[in-house]
Amino acid sequence: MIDFESARVQIFYATPMPGTKTVSLARCEGYVLAEKIATKEPVPSFDSSAVDGYAVRYEDIETIGKNKPVALNIVGEVRAGGTDDVKLGKNSAVKIFTGAPVPRQATAVVMIEDTEESNGVVFIKKSAKRGQHIRKKGKEFRKGQKIFSPGKYISPPVVAMLASSGVTKIKVYRKPRVSLLVTGDELRPPSATLKPGEIRDSNSFALKASLQSMGIDNIEVMRVKDTEADTRRSFLKALKTADVVISVGGVSVGEYDLVKEILHKIGVRQIFWRVAIKPGKPNYFGVKGKKLIFGLPGNPVSALVSFYVLVRPALWKLMGRTDESSFIVKARLTDTITKLPGRMEFVRGIVNRTESGELFVSPLKSRDSHMIGGMAAANCLIYFPKNCSVLESSSSVDVQVLVW
Ligand code: AMP
Ligand code: MG
Repeated sequence: MIDFESARVQIFYATPMPGTKTVSLARCEGYVLAEKIATKEPVPSFDSSAVDGYAVRYEDIETIGKNKPVALNIVGEVRAGGTDDVKLGKNSAVKIFTGAPVPRQATAVVMIEDTEESNGVVFIKKSAKRGQHIRKKGKEFRKGQKIFSPGKYISPPVVAMLASSGVTKIKVYRKPRVSLLVTGDELRPPSATLKPGEIRDSNSFALKASLQSMGIDNIEVMRVKDTEADTRRSFLKALKTADVVISVGGVSVGEYDLVKEILHKIGVRQIFWRVAIKPGKPNYFGVKGKKLIFGLPGNPVSALVSFYVLVRPALWKLMGRTDESSFIVKARLTDTITKLPGRMEFVRGIVNRTESGELFVSPLKSRDSHMIGGMAAANCLIYFPKNCSVLESSSSVDVQVLVW
């Protein structure tokens, strides 16, 4: 049995770097950048107005006092998409709209709310600052400035940046193909009428959903009988096409737990079996060439927790991602929890913020690995260290926020 940390390290080293391909801007969301991106122009590319209002020369409105507005002649109008060649002389103003180029002589924009217009004259009622409401050219990025490095996950705001930088073809890392094998003679589809002893397969749906939420879309699901022949046939089929094979169930010490033995027979090299964690002790990990094989325990909570803490980090690496966003925070426990020493436990919990901003975490009562209700209610995992047997109420603990 190995420790959680060494399991993580061994998986990390066994996980290869992905290949790359080029996708269009419209299809890049959910991939990871495989190239560095620099701006083609300064951002913003010209001085523009941040508000609807009037572009003015600061010198003309410097004298504004309380109840003493300044009157300026409106000499033109410029809207978004217009040009900045409207001439702005002394004591005059140009009507301007958000996003419009600011006339060259203007040194401030006054928002419409601070003005009153009548017969071609605008009364500026409130004092202003030099340069106010003008978005300066190049303020956010210089021309040619690096905005992203390889390894950046392409989230919707990253898509926005790529689009506004004029990048239309993007080099990204390929996503892995995943085969999901759920083992067990007792498993039936959720729609089935159950006979005694049968249960509905929830793991294949939960794990498929977990993969999809990471942006993985090439997923093959197989239900596998607890026989040598079916187990062998299914793994061989999965290994033909998939980069990652995730099997669930059949990896413990029971007589019908065939996964390890079959994997050995078909040439998969075992890296580890059994990790000192709870839930998830019987976890298996092996490799065949560059392919990764995870054998997760079948209990639904064990399967999901194991996926989250062991498989997910490997998949992110396989997708090229270096800015993984799941994070561990410190929170104060609301109840005392105990366990036997010897295994690290991931206790399902609910973390919340008080009005003062402090984080509190309540451990959920249902800690058994088949109780999926607790997992569905939880928004975090409390890290209960291996050799520790009690975490006192009010003590500060490490909490991994679940971002499904
Ligand atoms: P195993 O790891 O195969 O010994 O399974 C452990 C427990 O998880 C057993 O009670 C199984 O019935 C249950 N289980 C296994 N696979 C699934 C699944 N796909 N969906 C729901 N429960 C499962
Ligand atoms: Mg089983």
